[in-house]
Amino acid sequence: MRKISIFGATGSIGQNTLDLLRRDRAAYHVVALTGGQNIAQLAADAREFGAEIAVTAHEAQLPALREALAGSGVEAAAGAAALVEAASRPADWIMSAIVGAAGLAPGLKALEQGTTLALANKESLVCAGRLLMATAEAQGARILPVDSEHSAVFQALVGERLAEVERIIITASGGAFRDWPLADLANATLAQASSHPNWDMGQRITIDSASMFNKALEVIETREFFGVSPEQIEVLVHPQSLVHALVGFRDGALMSHLGAPDMRHAIGYALHWPDRKHLPVARLDLAAIGQLEFRAPEEARYPALRLAREVMARGGLAGAVFNGAKERALDHFIAGHLGFTAMAEVTEAALARIEAEPGLIDDAMTLENVTRIDDLARKAVDLLVAQRTG
Ligand code: NDP
Repeated sequence: MRKISIFGATGSIGQNTLDLLRRDRAAYHVVALTGGQNIAQLAADAREFGAEIAVTAHEAQLPALREALAGSGVEAAAGAAALVEAASRPADWIMSAIVGAAGLAPGLKALEQGTTLALANKESLVCAGRLLMATAEAQGARILPVDSEHSAVFQALVGERLAEVERIIITASGGAFRDWPLADLANATLAQASSHPNWDMGQRITIDSASMFNKALEVIETREFFGVSPEQIEVLVHPQSLVHALVGFRDGALMSHLGAPDMRHAIGYALHWPDRKHLPVARLDLAAIGQLEFRAPEEARYPALRLAREVMARGGLAGAVFNGAKERALDHFIAGHLGFTAMAEVTEAALARIEAEPGLIDDAMTLENVTRIDDLARKAVDLLVAQRTG
């Protein structure tokens, strides 16, 4: 039986992962399941799968979790340290699907144990890509991409040589506002930003898709994971979300991955890698689809893409600043303190502030330094928002 842990089990990726495990229950032993506020879901899944331990990120939720697990034999724990402890428990495969920089410490701990990490939590690669990749290499641990674009690139590279890759093209649906008049974007509401045309995902990544902050993170993730240069990475708007990525080789050939917009594709590939097993996803009927549509992303609509290029050019801990600032700007948008387009403005301003502090961005990439600069970026955003709202 394969030993599996799922970090962020109560979320969209976590639930899709459990859906796949459920189809072949006898093959898996669940070690740890983690969640945040959704104690009822966490406890129900931990009971169903007979998990060894269930962990909520929030210490205040521990009594509720204990109560929900009473008599089940499942251990209950809470807090950031408990998440890291759970990641140190022996497992064959760990799904990293916490949302945000909070996923970094448990993911890093899993790699330190030499565990295979299925990585949906792109934020950790953006914040600390070199640290994660170096840890994986030192421990002989494998990171398997779960983001659909990166899974697509990973699949297109099977049997190929990275040295022969000319470019990597990741596609973007364009999000909820791809066809809106630019002048209307500033007034986009939370409800409008929270609905995705193609994918059914958590709220934060859905809003990040509308602003393309998600694609900006993915561009950086591509650089960190595949080690290509920023100039080799392109973004292509593809409203249908059927072609997930393309890899261009030096002979001009483009290899692409097509599939229904269903995260169980990428999760299943990572779960069964290097094998392919049957997955319960829709099969594409290309004749019925008829046409595939592509266009270049508009710079004015998606300033986050320009910021990603600047962050990659800056290097150091700029990725952690960018991610922390954009996560906090998103908190403020969700809370109604910031307009939709102001998220990019505030993120850019926070980056400039932290960059102006001598030495900070060039500190060594350790978990402590990344955590510290992430916190500084969030505080810079809070200050900027307070100034804007007067
Ligand atoms: P969700 O918001 O649906 O789920 C997030 C999970 O993280 C939940 O289990 C949540 O718990 C938990 N969580 C929230 N805050 C914290 C915290 N501070 N500490 C620990 N756990 C926390 O997100 P998604 O499943 O959509 O996304 C998860 C990750 O996967 C993200 O990094 C996202 O970018 C990436 N991803 C997602 C895709 C998708 O299709 N959804 C596609 C590709 C990548 P609770 O809900 O109980 O509060």
